Amino acid sequence: MDARSPKTTDFDTLKRRLADALGAKAIVDSAEAMTPYLAEQRRRYQGAAPFVVRSASTEEVATTVTLCREAGVPVVPQGGNTGLVAGGIPFAETPAVLVNLERMNRVRDLDATDYSITVEAGCILQKVQEAAAEADRLFPLSLGAEGSCQIGGNLSTNAGGVHVLRYGNMRDLVLGLEVVLPDGRVWDGLKALRKDNTGYALKHLFVGAEGTLGIITAACLKLFPRPAETEVAFVAVTDPAAAVELLGRARAATGDRVNAFELIPRIGLDFALKHVEGIEDPLSEPSDWYALVELASGRADGSLRESLEEFLGTAVEDGLVSDAALAANERQAQAFWAIREGIVEAQKFEGGSIKHDISVAVSKTPEFITRATALVKEMVPGIRPVPFGHVGDGNIHFNLSQPEGADREAYLARWDAVNEAVHELVVSMGGSISAEHGIGYMKAAENARFKSDVEMDLMRAVKHALDPDGLMNPGKVLER
Ligand code: FAD
Repeated sequence: MDARSPKTTDFDTLKRRLADALGAKAIVDSAEAMTPYLAEQRRRYQGAAPFVVRSASTEEVATTVTLCREAGVPVVPQGGNTGLVAGGIPFAETPAVLVNLERMNRVRDLDATDYSITVEAGCILQKVQEAAAEADRLFPLSLGAEGSCQIGGNLSTNAGGVHVLRYGNMRDLVLGLEVVLPDGRVWDGLKALRKDNTGYALKHLFVGAEGTLGIITAACLKLFPRPAETEVAFVAVTDPAAAVELLGRARAATGDRVNAFELIPRIGLDFALKHVEGIEDPLSEPSDWYALVELASGRADGSLRESLEEFLGTAVEDGLVSDAALAANERQAQAFWAIREGIVEAQKFEGGSIKHDISVAVSKTPEFITRATALVKEMVPGIRPVPFGHVGDGNIHFNLSQPEGADREAYLARWDAVNEAVHELVVSMGGSISAEHGIGYMKAAENARFKSDVEMDLMRAVKHALDPDGLMNPGKVLER
């Protein structure tokens, strides 16, 4: 069977069968009600679907997949629809049923002794963080969309965020999974085991698969002790190389208690000051570059503050740091973080922005920023690079605001050409064209071009083994 030619395009019959099996409440089919499910975060693409199914249990997801399969109709899984590579929406060219997991939002179990939590895939990330906190535990995944993204989406994109440096990305945080397979069977791998060497690590196939191999319905996740003491500093650094050097020193000086280490360019702070309410410059003198540093410790004995002051003092003497503001309280710490989060929001007011989510080895980030900046300035005179983000993981959001006064649409028309040049550079430096957002629809063709034949063969073999008919989120990750 080929997903491009469904056995039947009689979506009304399929919809009726699904409504009979799941109840009318599960079906969303008015154009107005479907709008938010079909909108794409960056408004670069428009989704289309005959209807949306909101399955409320694992059994209902399995039934949905089975009935769609019998009709030869592909399914596209969707969580909070906050993904940034157009992976969670179907397109008119491949008619598919959109399966949203929002009704599967229960915490099934929390075991404080095991340091584990078992949740349904539709749980909002913030709800999981809160459930852990109530039990005096920490679920460390944290990212800008945490109030609306879902655990199933976080797993399927192998989400990263600001705490990867300390706790790893979503792949490192998962103990077990429950998945509805493309043939409608349920794989129950919902174990809380820290050790299990009984063959292939099946759960890792589904993490980062972006819904192309099955629909995750539940997950058992790792929890951690809650930090007793946190320190946040907004530090003026000489340049990105100084930031990387400071990171290395901070890790050593604190016994690896660096929770987050974000790079912020002056232009990013200027944008936030101009466009986001309540943002203030924490330092009196401007600097070209800043690092936002967060340290956390299980002991509330003031030693973290001491280490912070000590390594920053030495960094000032060595010319890496010119000034620093240390948060005196939680409110100030949040104000420093608001600058980092405000950069994304503020860029929207500066016209078109061409985005990259790249990674290179941490030590190569300064070289990447220098070379990529020169490259794009040559391609588009007047372009305004805003390289920021998780420098602690070598992950830079190399976002490029249009030249002042330029025509927005004409600038955005260069998106693919600019991406191609920057990604060529990234790959030549041994890096990745997608550090944490995934491939989705947006980067599928490019990914195929950059990966080796061996890698693409292996990926296609896995896809074919699990989804031989190509009915699970077609056209995403792998080109059709
Ligand atoms: P969706 O967007 O709904 O889906 C994403 C992909 O997962 C799609 O391919 C979809 O088909 C698949 N999928 C969803 N649910 C399931 C399921 N249950 N089973 C199988 N497949 C499924 N990402 C980072 O990694 N780090 C960041 O710091 C970060 N910051 C962000 C900040 C903002 C403001 C925004 C808007 C996004 C950010 N992202 C970040 C992008 C990130 O990928 C998502 O926010 C999140 O991980 C996706 O979750 P979601 O529930 O919205 O998934």
